[in-house]
Amino acid sequence: MNPSSAALVVFICCCCCCFWEIESKYMVYDTSHKIQGDKINVHLVPHSHDDVGWLKTVDQYYTGANNSIRGACVQNVLDSVIQALIDDKNRKFIYVEIAFFERWWNQQSELLKNKVKELVNTGQLEFINGGMCMHDEATPHYIDLIDQTTLGHMFIKREFDQKPRVGWQIDPFGHSSVQAYLLGAEVGFDSLFFARMDYQDREIRKSDKTLEFVWQGSKSLGSSAQIFTGIFPRHYDPPDGFTFEINDVSPPIQDDVLLFDYNVRERVDDFVAAAMAQVNVTRTNHIMWTMGTDFRYQYAVSWFRQMDKFIHYVNQDGRVNALYSTPSIYTDAKNAANETWPLKTDDFFPYADKANTYWTGYFTSRPTFKGYVRTMSSYYLAARQLEFYKGRNSSGPNTNALANALAIAQHHDAVSGTQREHVAADYALRISKGYAEASELVASSLESLTSSRSSSNQEQTVGVFQQCPLLNISYCPASETDLPDGKSLVVVTYNPLGWKREEVVRIPVSFDDFIVTDSNGKVVESQILPIFNASLNMRSFHVKAYNGKSPSSTPQYWLGFKASVPPLGFSTYIISKAEKSADTSSTLSTVWTSDSTSSNETVVVGRGHLKLHYATNEGKLTRYINQRSLVEEPLEHSFSYYSGHNGTDQASGAYIFRPSDTFLVKSEGQNAFTIVRGPLMDEVHQQINSWIYQVTRLYKEKEHVEVEFTIGPIPVDDGVGKEITTQVTTALKTNKTFYTDSNGRDFIKRVRDFRSDWDLQVNEPVAGNYYPINLGAYVRDENMELSVLVDRAVGGSSLVDGQIELMLHRRLLYDDGKGVGEVLNETICVQNDCKGLVVQGKYYIRIDPIGDGAKWRRTFGQEIYSPLLLAFAEQDGDDWKNSHVSFFSMIDESYSLPNNTAIITLQELENGKVLLRLAHLYEVGEDKDYSSIASVELKKLFPNRKINKVTEMNLSGNQERDEMERKKLKWSVKDSSEAKKIVRGGSVDPEKLVVELGPMEIRTFFIDLDYLRMFGSERKDANRA
Ligand SMILES: [Zn+2]
Repeated sequence: MNPSSAALVVFICCCCCCFWEIESKYMVYDTSHKIQGDKINVHLVPHSHDDVGWLKTVDQYYTGANNSIRGACVQNVLDSVIQALIDDKNRKFIYVEIAFFERWWNQQSELLKNKVKELVNTGQLEFINGGMCMHDEATPHYIDLIDQTTLGHMFIKREFDQKPRVGWQIDPFGHSSVQAYLLGAEVGFDSLFFARMDYQDREIRKSDKTLEFVWQGSKSLGSSAQIFTGIFPRHYDPPDGFTFEINDVSPPIQDDVLLFDYNVRERVDDFVAAAMAQVNVTRTNHIMWTMGTDFRYQYAVSWFRQMDKFIHYVNQDGRVNALYSTPSIYTDAKNAANETWPLKTDDFFPYADKANTYWTGYFTSRPTFKGYVRTMSSYYLAARQLEFYKGRNSSGPNTNALANALAIAQHHDAVSGTQREHVAADYALRISKGYAEASELVASSLESLTSSRSSSNQEQTVGVFQQCPLLNISYCPASETDLPDGKSLVVVTYNPLGWKREEVVRIPVSFDDFIVTDSNGKVVESQILPIFNASLNMRSFHVKAYNGKSPSSTPQYWLGFKASVPPLGFSTYIISKAEKSADTSSTLSTVWTSDSTSSNETVVVGRGHLKLHYATNEGKLTRYINQRSLVEEPLEHSFSYYSGHNGTDQASGAYIFRPSDTFLVKSEGQNAFTIVRGPLMDEVHQQINSWIYQVTRLYKEKEHVEVEFTIGPIPVDDGVGKEITTQVTTALKTNKTFYTDSNGRDFIKRVRDFRSDWDLQVNEPVAGNYYPINLGAYVRDENMELSVLVDRAVGGSSLVDGQIELMLHRRLLYDDGKGVGEVLNETICVQNDCKGLVVQGKYYIRIDPIGDGAKWRRTFGQEIYSPLLLAFAEQDGDDWKNSHVSFFSMIDESYSLPNNTAIITLQELENGKVLLRLAHLYEVGEDKDYSSIASVELKKLFPNRKINKVTEMNLSGNQERDEMERKKLKWSVKDSSEAKKIVRGGSVDPEKLVVELGPMEIRTFFIDLDYLRMFGSERKDANRA
């Protein structure tokens, strides 16, 4: 339109309206509308999606720093939203991420805090989800999900006496069944909402109005842990044309008649049209509009002003009813609608938003960060136990910083590996600071527990314990020490699990002859193994990265010794230098290396029941034999890589896995493999190529294969990004079927190129069959089952019958266009020496007769999650033995937890109560012995203490279990033909104090304990005074 014709239009409009007779005036908008039963109700839900770190660090997002990356300041959001709510009591807002809210809260005046409490009490401000972050659902372990949710819920309970009712997982890239039944129903949520789901599934659900349904995520807990679930028709932003951040382009309502662009009628029509479009895909006469998106409401009135007007004018119009609402109000309306809802089981993995865009790469992205989070998760669990034994000290070293750091690390752009490099470093720094403090606590707790009753001089033991967080790269100054005459090394091994463990402990040492004795002075079997150059090179580089300087000495050997550790307790081992060839001393391993002259023979490795056969000339694994279980099966083991699709159309990147081709990694070099043998273990070392090293380890007394891999730097100088996988291959006839865990808990059946909910159109035969793995995967046929367990979150699949594939590392050269705007090309620099990231990790392989695999997956799986915690000290002569407690179990000495249960939380809370969480580790029907009800005797868990009161809580500990059950909404479900009876433990008799657990059940208790006179009790009381 040219200027002169525009002027003409304005002139004509002015004449028509004759507006000079009307004056603009103060308008009162009626925003008080509630639900109307006979109309279409449009629930406007104002929200801001505030990532706890992604493109910026959590601090930067909070303060608005680094706004050149992204104009986002959460402080602005909260400041302006609170004022906007105070200004109109009908306005509502939901807040989700407590990591941000808690910071903001702590900075407010008492006056404002009281006003905010009022907003919360009246329901204007509602906390939903309420964990510290909106956690990822693919890559966290369920224990971490519980912990981070508990932390946020406890804050809300403490400050506001509120319990969030709604799960709000709007952004995570796929949704787990553990989220639905455990972090949803068992937390006490009445509903769960999210946005992202497979694009094919979404179209079908829109057409048959099944975007809302009842989800039963666990086959063990079935309808007893179900949740109403709603998926947004498109995304978590408003319909087009209804976004109102100050820079947004949606037309505002211009209702002052003086305005040339007066548009009330048009905008009301737009609103009604958008509402009717959504009504067409939704059951009942209630629809929800998510009014907000990432980091919105930095100037909140900009949104509220428009919503005020829409509510006012739309309701004047009367075709639909618009109201300020929250997901709770919406859920109650759905519940009241007397509708029968479709049923959903299993989960929403994998997620694809387009034909070639499968979000299955992040299952593995940043594998070392994923490993670090997992290691620290288990350390946090053990540290809280030790904190409990010692007595919590809020001023001294405690676990709070580690708890907070781990909580935000569960965010859907944290452990997922989808954040920018500087943000990943920030998360890791926070965890390492938390670890540093927690490790002081662990040391001081062990010091107090090892201090003898009779020891009058406790100060002697302060600061004696060292720990070795870099033990994985064979760095442990405490054990590498010289041990001058008369000195010996004391190793305290702590077991956080409820059952006794017998394991081989490995530590780097500088000599090759030791005697290892246990707490009774009895010699235990030990073995010396060489540390090869591959390990030493990695050690040197990474110690320099960690400490700023290279290690001063180089250990030559590993010392392995047999440790036996009581449940929830420790045992102590003394390591002294031995006279050469004393018959009690450690056995030197034999080392055999194949060379080009080796003839093609079979060599057998393993000195227990389990044997592996290798072909000597190629170093190829050929056969797996267990002489006890009589399993005998061809077994192969290989590495491959996918070349990442390049930048045109959809690239492989931090989120997306889009392979172009697959290549087998061939063995290079003359030394095909080296075999190390000794009394405790055999190892097969293989330099697979110049950037993959592998150790296959068989312990004499275990019946699984431990594989330690070192991968990287992945070469990319050919301009091709690579995603490295390993394949474990048997001849099992598995008929496209495999099983992967959900957040380390329930196993879910997967069928290649198949989805249970719809007829899958296969566009990505590899990426579309990848699933997240946190505990493991297995395949089976009529006779046998092959299981693989992992030490961190990875992606995996079974792309060929009889085979399990894991993706272990990825390095890519293109951004995948999903917002992170950075290439996933992790590089480690020490001074000016930069190289691609090297990952070292482990996975475990076992083949069992059919039906026997679960015992290993569950019980040993828990041991992988919770390794023994090691602490080191030195003794002079025999002084340690004489003056210290060297064997301790917190629980009754005759007692041990059944092998199907774990203590997943034992923690002293700030109020002095004890939080105890017990988990049944097996699913219904999974194992003939262990899938039964389990009992735990609390009196035996806390001997020497008086249990005053036991209160069963919901999963996050913010309400009593009874109250939660009472308030739970009931839903009518279609096709809910529940054949099996659900087994749950009964209520706890206050006299007997026995807790029963049904399969997959997790029960949470607050326990009031009195500290009786017991070992260590004087100190405990002194601490408390
Ligand atoms: Zn997000």
